[in-house]
Amino acid sequence: MVLAIEKILNDEYLGRRVSIRGWIYRKRRVGKLIFLVVRDSTDIIQCVMEKNKIPAEDFKLLDKVGVESSVTLEGTLRKDDRAPTGYEIEAERIKIIGPSYNFPITRDKSDDFLLDNRHLWVRSREMNAILKIRHTVFGALHEYFREKGYYESQAPMFVTGAVEGGATLFEVPYFGKKAYLTQSSQFYLETLIFSLEKVYTVAPSFRAEKSRTRRHLTEYWHAEAEAAWYHNEDMMQDEEEMIVYIIQRVLEDRKKELEFLKRDREFLESIEKPFKKMRYEELIKFAQDHGVEIHYGDDLGADEETAITKHFDGPVFITHYPRKIKPFYHRPDPENPKVVLCHDLLAPEGYGEIIGGGERIYKLEVLLERMEENGLNPENYYWYMDLRKYGSVPHSGFGLGMDRFVWWIAGLTHIKYAIPYPRTIRRTRP
Ligand code: ATP
Ligand code: MG
Repeated sequence: MVLAIEKILNDEYLGRRVSIRGWIYRKRRVGKLIFLVVRDSTDIIQCVMEKNKIPAEDFKLLDKVGVESSVTLEGTLRKDDRAPTGYEIEAERIKIIGPSYNFPITRDKSDDFLLDNRHLWVRSREMNAILKIRHTVFGALHEYFREKGYYESQAPMFVTGAVEGGATLFEVPYFGKKAYLTQSSQFYLETLIFSLEKVYTVAPSFRAEKSRTRRHLTEYWHAEAEAAWYHNEDMMQDEEEMIVYIIQRVLEDRKKELEFLKRDREFLESIEKPFKKMRYEELIKFAQDHGVEIHYGDDLGADEETAITKHFDGPVFITHYPRKIKPFYHRPDPENPKVVLCHDLLAPEGYGEIIGGGERIYKLEVLLERMEENGLNPENYYWYMDLRKYGSVPHSGFGLGMDRFVWWIAGLTHIKYAIPYPRTIRRTRP
């Protein structure tokens, strides 16, 4: 029986005959011996082939092929402290399934080269670890929502209206007319709460981001939720519960991967709810006190977020932004209509915003006023306005950038490492 490498890195199999399959990760010849490190999806193991112990033809072929050849291999397991994972297979049989010669990725390749060859680089141990963390984050998110009584649903990707403003819309030809790629599924989720009350979706959002930052993609994975009867505070409560749940999950299931990436696990372990809250006003003061050049009324740019959140010891909710710098659908605070009942969640350690959310306007006249303020044509939003005409309810929602979240949890330097195939202003391939 073929076993996963991870399974046999274990005293239980010492002296026993084992079979594995995978790809040659490293290879070196020392006289009559060939040392291989073989990888599969689970781990790596050293294997040694002695010239006289395996068929001559197999040895010859193995001597010729390069790294990334796929192989099946059988042999006896023993302990070896010098081997990278502590064990070694003394091979008795090896079969090359798909040979590989001159694999283009060698040591010290530039970042651009690795991005051009992402289809091959996804095999690296680093990407393998990141992709597994990403898998756990996505899985845990679904678990959380379903457990909490949210229904999963889907919104269209071809749309005719902007959620986040026209500047970052991607226009696509649509049978002689124009359509756009969606920037957010929020408005559609808002329609669905009138049926399902609590809904969520995980889908791509598209934004023509022209700025080059460490945190913007043009196509990103967006987890969005809307909940009927929820006020801003209620929404934040679910969010912090969700973030802590997912982090716990990653800490439990992805210990090895976090270690491989040298992520500071203790820091992740220290994250607890409730998260700190700061009003926008206080944040500006906090930023100024820490030498960040920013004034009341400014939106936080990527650089400011980095500078500010380096001083945070956990995620922080920023609430009550001035209405002028937030999209039209946010509900103005009845106690001070100059600000809106919204929240952004800023991740610490220099990472910055991972969630944008808030309470939505539920009264038609307030919505119309805010649309006028923003120069929007109500006709384009007829269906969004209908929600305020037929049985409107207070409600709130949020959007979590999944790639940003993975970027932070895995402790990566750039968001492009958090997704298998990043799309940015400069890159649409492979
Ligand atoms: P930013 O100020 O960083 O551009 P935003 O205010 O435009 O973010 P929202 O519209 O609130 O973001 O979107 C919700 C979430 O989606 C953000 O908190 C972030 O995690 C994620 N997000 C937004 N834009 C991008 C992007 N271009 N690439 C990756 N994730 C993004
Ligand atoms: Mg933006």
